[in-house]
Amino acid sequence: MGVAVGIDLGTSNSCVAAVRDGEPVVFADAEGRRTQPSVVAFGYGKSAVVGHRARRQLLYAPENTVVSAKRLVGRRADSEEVRRMKAQSAFGITEGENGDVRIRVQGRLISAPEVSAHVLMHMKKIAEAALDEEVDKAVITVPAYFNDAQRQATRDAASIAGLECLRILNEPTAAALAYGFRQGKRQHVAVYDLGGGTFDISILRIDDDFFEVVATAGDTFLGGDDFDYAAADEFLNEFCRQTGLNLVDNRTVRMKLREAAERAKIALSTGDEVEVQVPALYRGPDGKEHDFTAIVDRFTYAQWVMPLVQRTFDVCDDALKAAGMTPRQVDHVLLVGGMTRFPLVRDAVQQFFGKSPNASLNPDEVVAVGAAIQAHSLTNVEEAASSVLLDVTPQSLGVRTVGGFVEVVIPRNTAIPTDSSKVFHTAFDNQTEVRIAVFQGESRMAEDNELLGEFVLEGLTPKPRGQVKVRVTFEIDNDGIVHVRALDDSLGIEKSIRIEAKSGLAPEEIKAARFDDVDF
Ligand code: AMP
Repeated sequence: MGVAVGIDLGTSNSCVAAVRDGEPVVFADAEGRRTQPSVVAFGYGKSAVVGHRARRQLLYAPENTVVSAKRLVGRRADSEEVRRMKAQSAFGITEGENGDVRIRVQGRLISAPEVSAHVLMHMKKIAEAALDEEVDKAVITVPAYFNDAQRQATRDAASIAGLECLRILNEPTAAALAYGFRQGKRQHVAVYDLGGGTFDISILRIDDDFFEVVATAGDTFLGGDDFDYAAADEFLNEFCRQTGLNLVDNRTVRMKLREAAERAKIALSTGDEVEVQVPALYRGPDGKEHDFTAIVDRFTYAQWVMPLVQRTFDVCDDALKAAGMTPRQVDHVLLVGGMTRFPLVRDAVQQFFGKSPNASLNPDEVVAVGAAIQAHSLTNVEEAASSVLLDVTPQSLGVRTVGGFVEVVIPRNTAIPTDSSKVFHTAFDNQTEVRIAVFQGESRMAEDNELLGEFVLEGLTPKPRGQVKVRVTFEIDNDGIVHVRALDDSLGIEKSIRIEAKSGLAPEEIKAARFDDVDF
């Protein structure tokens, strides 16, 4: 039997861990690096490189190098998030036949779960090399706000990579597990997660083995990259001022300055001042090379990025409001994500919540460690205390009714697993089928929400309108995945329903994409 690991499949970076001899262990690659960029560089044929090597390819072949696939996983091609990604990606993003996203690299179209599968496979191989044992099962973490399609797509990615997905676990729940919030009194924990590209805040209520995500909020375009872009803009202005050149539209200059900005940020997390140097940043048409140098201190840097830190607290306010709490009612604050290493962020979090955050665990590894603990308890039932993790639905779930409105069946923040039923009546005389469109989201209008799928219940008895009742039951399982049943009340028997997937991969597609025979 193979080993079960925990994988933090991140937007920018991923991490893998497992419990060995009772202790969580984070696996490093051959060079000793404990996290891997979630970057996949495609070559010819089916070959691909992943992680640090792929990140290097980003500089010279960005059109064949896929970053942030997690932003595309389980999303429809016409969604706002995908539109934003399209605007800033060097690789092609198009629409698949079923409305989901396809990525165009080396003349091939690939699905987002396939890209994520490459990352999962890479993490699996790192763990296998470190353990010298086979890894065949994993608990994989996702943001608490991930909807059904995104969770399904993450499961699809695991299948493609040949991993049995034991559980899809919410990232904040994993962080709380890593901090050992399992025993003891009832308490509220806020998980503040600021990574490279995204920000999430989740509020958990923990009572012994119950982990309830009582509220979650986030900004999918707010992270360390934005800090780097903000500082790079300042560097560019300074460079233009020093040289008298106008290089606002020069992509290469911007990219080099962005890298310099990230180095400066990391240096400023331990030092008070940093000297930024970019030799030969720009070569003019006359062949003259221009270097860039500047000195930045913490205070100046703080002024540049403070609006971004403030934005995280606007999101925290939303989550606290949904939980009906004030910042001071939170008992513990946990830090997750590389950006929480930055002292400015830590100090601001401390001020906002009125208490020092727990930061004893590595913020890059804490989610993978929690996932490993969960993987261990799911595979060692006799040894581990029974693990009941109670999560909540991040978004409301409902069906479209006459006039394009949404009738909510399971409201947002309901604890899962859960089920709920609603009865619908036929709208026309002699109607023999009903089409039920399932939406996830908070808008009253169906079209503003995410369409999860459509169900056609056929074979109803023809009767005058309103006389046939159809009971639709929504069930959300432990993984947050939605199942729907429909029942014709007049016949009293359950009818078959046809699910028309609007996104995600068909089982044949998953099978075809499996990596069994692919060399990495
Ligand atoms: P993550 O997505 O959680 O891996 O976080 C990556 C982000 O954290 C990137 O924006 C990094 O530049 C940033 N980061 C990593 N280490 C540090 C550090 N020591 N100080 C400041 N930012 C950091």
